[in-house]
Amino acid sequence: MKKLLTDYNLAELEEILKQNGAPKFRAKQLFKWLSLGVDFDGMTDLPKSFRVELSEKYSAIGATIIKEAKSKDGTVKFLFRLCDGNLIEGVLMKYKYGNTLCVSTQVGCRMNCIFCASGKDGLLRNLSAGEMLAEVICANAYLRKTDSEARISNVVLMGSGEPLDNYDEVTKFLRLLTESQGIGQRSISLSTCGLVDNIRKLADEDFNVTLCISLHAPTDEKRIKVMPTARKFKIKDIIDATKYYFSKSGRRVIFEYAMMRNFNISEADAEELRKLTAGYPCHVNLIPLNETGSTLVGVNRKEAEFFLKLLTDRGISATIRRSLGEDIEGACGQLKRKYVQDEN
Ligand code: SAH
Repeated sequence: MKKLLTDYNLAELEEILKQNGAPKFRAKQLFKWLSLGVDFDGMTDLPKSFRVELSEKYSAIGATIIKEAKSKDGTVKFLFRLCDGNLIEGVLMKYKYGNTLCVSTQVGCRMNCIFCASGKDGLLRNLSAGEMLAEVICANAYLRKTDSEARISNVVLMGSGEPLDNYDEVTKFLRLLTESQGIGQRSISLSTCGLVDNIRKLADEDFNVTLCISLHAPTDEKRIKVMPTARKFKIKDIIDATKYYFSKSGRRVIFEYAMMRNFNISEADAEELRKLTAGYPCHVNLIPLNETGSTLVGVNRKEAEFFLKLLTDRGISATIRRSLGEDIEGACGQLKRKYVQDEN
């Protein structure tokens, strides 16, 4: 596979071009075209010979949209094809405050949470920073087709993959998002099932994205039943790491909690959650479980609201996440699985 140019920041591009004997200002031109998702053919202010030379060694486009599914509520689910043929998903959600893109960070995932469709085939490979950036570039190009002013304003790392299991490329991507797309860290959320050491590393490296922790159960004993990683990463250590992250970044931590009937929505669960969340700024995001074929069952509106009340009565800051795109294979990994099944 050729090297991907969106993997590089401007300084790195300048260095590469320098080695090829091209003047520095060309890097800026190239960086601009790359950030717009324009292939070599369209880079009209660059000399043809220079473009041909580059295209022999490098690719300019890291991903292409091969399928779109549009929901009645405006949500669009993309299926992207990477240069090596691997498929990943992204979801564009329209909120009042702007357009949010949910990006994938790995092809597959090795965390194996039993309710999640992304990990069913294990981890195929990590995405590079430039491939993750390519998801955003593609979504921006998609938006521009109907509105030249429209753009992605927020990014959530909540697609397939565990971002902190691909730490170096993901953190490079966070920096590239700002440099290439003008999306600052305060507009980015990173969701993790709780890789403690890398949460601390994020804090030490002064990142200030919103950190979201996939909690899903209030005790280790229960959590192990749905998330194998809970064997290694204990809730207490995760909480300590998030407190450390807060102390460095000043960012309130979000706990994601997929509500599952007869599993994690009792009064006793609410009480445990109260103990976990007491005394520091955090918020619980309740998600009605999206059923993906495991034995776990989701909740209805009434059950969800009842559990929310159990939490708010205890002084816990909590909301139910608005469910978008329910008519378009909403849950993680579902669109890709369906596409692959239909093709076979
Ligand atoms: N690996 C990261 C990102 C995963 S996806 C993480 O674990 O946080 C983003 C969120 O969707 C996570 O909280 C994940 O646990 C949740 N999720 C996955 N499958 C789900 C399902 N079927 N229903 C509801 N939430 C789900």
